[in-house]
Amino acid sequence: MVTLLRVCGIVGYVGHRQALDVVLDGLRRLEYRGYDSAGVAVNAGDALAVERKAGRLANLEARLDEVGREGFAGTTGMGHTRWATHGPPVDRNSHPHSDMTGRVAVVHNGIIENFVALRGELEAVGVEFASDTDTETAAHLVSRAYSGLDDSGTKGDLPASVRAVCRRLEGAFTLVVTHADEPDQVVAARRSSPLVVGLGEGETFVASDVAAFIEHTRDAVELGQDQVVVITRDGYDVTDFHGEPAPVKPFQVTWDLSAAEKGGHEYFMLKEIEEQPEALANTLRGHFTEGRIVLDEQRMSDQDLRDVDKVFVVACGSAYHSGLVAKYAIEHWTRLPVEVELASEFRYRDPVLDRDTLVVAVSQSGETADTLEAVRHAREQKARVLAVCNTNGAQIPRESDAVLYTHAGPEIGVASTKAFLAQIAANYLVGLALAQARGTKYPDEVAREFHELEAMPQAVQQVLGTIDQVRDLGRRLSDSRAVLFLGRHVGFPVALEGALKLKELAYMHAEGFAAGELKHGPIALIEEGLPVVVIMPSPKGRAVLHSKLVSNISEIQARGARTIVIAEEGDETVRPFADELIEVPAVPTLLQPLVSTVPLQVLAAEIARSRGYDVDKPRNLAKSVTVE
Ligand code: GLU
Repeated sequence: MVTLLRVCGIVGYVGHRQALDVVLDGLRRLEYRGYDSAGVAVNAGDALAVERKAGRLANLEARLDEVGREGFAGTTGMGHTRWATHGPPVDRNSHPHSDMTGRVAVVHNGIIENFVALRGELEAVGVEFASDTDTETAAHLVSRAYSGLDDSGTKGDLPASVRAVCRRLEGAFTLVVTHADEPDQVVAARRSSPLVVGLGEGETFVASDVAAFIEHTRDAVELGQDQVVVITRDGYDVTDFHGEPAPVKPFQVTWDLSAAEKGGHEYFMLKEIEEQPEALANTLRGHFTEGRIVLDEQRMSDQDLRDVDKVFVVACGSAYHSGLVAKYAIEHWTRLPVEVELASEFRYRDPVLDRDTLVVAVSQSGETADTLEAVRHAREQKARVLAVCNTNGAQIPRESDAVLYTHAGPEIGVASTKAFLAQIAANYLVGLALAQARGTKYPDEVAREFHELEAMPQAVQQVLGTIDQVRDLGRRLSDSRAVLFLGRHVGFPVALEGALKLKELAYMHAEGFAAGELKHGPIALIEEGLPVVVIMPSPKGRAVLHSKLVSNISEIQARGARTIVIAEEGDETVRPFADELIEVPAVPTLLQPLVSTVPLQVLAAEIARSRGYDVDKPRNLAKSVTVE
């Protein structure tokens, strides 16, 4: 099963209860998905009652208490918790978004890639926008289609209007739409992002995840790709984007609430590992348009980018490892020297910085104190700062000259998984943006690299097929005292990341080494039965590296190590040296970390689980480290 990224929470309801109560309840269940803002719309007789507020759901509830809930009487409604991708998390960008008449309200999960063009088109016919979001375009488009102001021919028909709009949207989206003139229905659409319908007695739900309605019904229907559903009190009707009847998958929800939030998994981390293909796809989405790599925000000129003569990647923990991976690509593509620094060390050692230095600050939360201080230090020295963050509007992006967001969605497991893979992809985009600005790569080369990146979600999906094998291995290794990780080239940072995951989750001694360093010391650690995980390069890509690593494995095997080898499928040379072999798909050398890291995440999680530890909340650790 493909696990789709569950960003933000969406609920829609038509039934016999007060929609506001049902929707707020559902949002409470979905709040773990996004907490930048929350909002509701209720069809209250002849008008829509809409309220939305930045911050957690509690802020919205306080606001509703302030304005009074009487205005929200009605049995048709919808709500949203946001994980901002376009525009900072402030009131005006909170969902639902409305058209200019306030008769239409739309909530959205995902990214509408062509929103800039659509917005331009709408502004040209006099539409005024009230937010910075991609979502708002959908509200105006539906409004115009329903009112007969465009050429869709769908006047007065809400489902047909939504279908017509969906045909114009590019990207990934779940949309839920309500119209003041249609109090008995809610219309929802799905492309890529998940959407399920819940069937109750005289009431029907639509939500991004069953957790939203599991208290009311366990009869559910999963929508397929590119489908539109109309829910009414009595049931639902599904078509494709052209109005043809479409197949759906009815199912019974057997999970309890806590498992439902975790997509049926015991831990968020396992769900997040499975979300990685989608996290990668979302991170790449929209960053290559009209043949050029584009950043999310750029407050420095193209000339400034061209003038860069040195790059520092500054980060902590896994984000630091993403920087180590990126160094190989950025130096190769741009011919610029790249230094990767632990943020906590950076500013205390008087780094050589000037206005032609680009500091790439990588932080999932965008609030990491060490990284933030490093950013401030860099800016004081006149260096330019480009932030790679997963949290829109956080402090680090706010203080930076340019921003590239990793659209990995909220990460709940403390140990980073999908955010890490997304950081590698984002750092590569930074490298390509620099190569493009400096002309060290021709446009067709930039395009080729980008398309190779675009193929990675599929490759990562394939690696997820090894989960059962790796979990079994994890259970067998759970009594080990220590584990070593070896790699070369881009496999070296992967080894470091594998060791970090094991330390933080399984509280086991683990170390990552550059395989070439073995002879210079670490080989003395090898003893009978010690598990050593080896990340093999491709035999085709870097033949020299491959044969060197095969020698390294035979050396350690001869000294009694138990070798666990992550190798490209079809790599026969390595087979005799592998006590355990985990095969990953063949991908270009620089992209190998995106596939080879995945089994290491699963391994650490499973060892931790077997040892009885809480995989999502390792001891002594916090998700976002906001103190130095
Ligand atoms: N792209 C939309 C926004 O930034 C929706 C984000 C979401 O999925 O919550 O508002």
